[in-house]
Order: sequence, then C-alpha cells, then structure tokens
Amino acid sequence: MPSYVNPEKCDGCKALDKTACQHICPNDLMVLNKAIEKAYNREPEMCWECYNCVKICPQGAVEMRGYADFVPLGATVTPMRGSDAIMWTIKFRNGSIKRFKFPIRSTPEGSAVPSGNFGEGSADLNSPALFTEPASLGLPAVATFKK
Ligand code: SF4
Ligand code: SF4
Repeated sequence: MPSYVNPEKCDGCKALDKTACQHICPNDLMVLNKAIEKAYNREPEMCWECYNCVKICPQGAVEMRGYADFVPLGATVTPMRGSDAIMWTIKFRNGSIKRFKFPIRSTPEGSAVPSGNFGEGSADLNSPALFTEPASLGLPAVATFKK
C-alpha cells in the first residue's frame, strides 16, 4: 500500500531546501507543491512501500495503509522513529488505536562503525573476495580454484 501525505499535517518542511520526504525517497516519488507548501506522492503505483518517507517526516504527515496480513484492511499504520525505538501506531477503521514500541538498536545512536572495524579491503574490484575476507572467514587467504 503506497504512502500518502496528510495535507493537514504537512508544512512543506519550510526550514529545509529540500523536503525530508524528497531527500529520503529512493524512487524520487515525493514532490512539493510550492504554491500550497504541501508534498504528495506523485506516482503511488511506483511506491516501494519502504516506509522511509513515513519515518523521516518531522510532522508525522506521511501515512500508510497497512496490509491485511498484519492489520485489518482500512487501518492506517504510522511509525514514529526515536533514537532507540520506533513506536508504531495502528488506527483501526472504527477509530480505536493501538501502539507498539520496538527497540531498533542495541548500541548508542551514532556509534555504528560501517566497516565493522575491518580494513578498507582490497582495492582490486575484480577480486572474488568480500571486503572483510579472508579475515572474516578465519582463513589466511581466500580459497581459489587451481587453474
Ligand atoms: S517530510 Fe513531511 S512535512 Fe516535510 S514536506 Fe514531506 S510530508 Fe510534508
Ligand atoms: S514509501 Fe518509500 S518508495 Fe514510497 S514514497 Fe515513501 S520513500 Fe518513496
């Protein structure tokens, strides 16, 4: 179910050069109508339903309709991202609301090391080894077929 913008909550990210939802969408779907300072999903059928725009919107203005496999049809699903957890709010068709909070990390925010403390890896992009190998395999060298 593609995302959609609630125009009553969207403020067009007034303080930003590019809106947060435009910045984060991997499919470049979010656009801002500058005349009214409201964003919208220009091609819902192309939406990957990745929830990035939903999680990043500072106003909580982007919403998703949930799939029937986890909430009844007609419900909306709204995640509110914190530094260590996401609060999911499910609003059912009858107006009742349930909230679920799940931790999203086990280390302090900003402490992740993208390389996992491995070196930068081989400069040879044609190497069959992954950049952590052979150390992550516990081997002195990556095994290769003899020619
Ligand atoms: S991130 Fe939210 S508030 Fe900002 S333009 Fe997009 S929908 Fe509107
Ligand atoms: S859910 Fe993902 S693909 Fe869809 S509009 Fe939002 S950021 Fe783009």
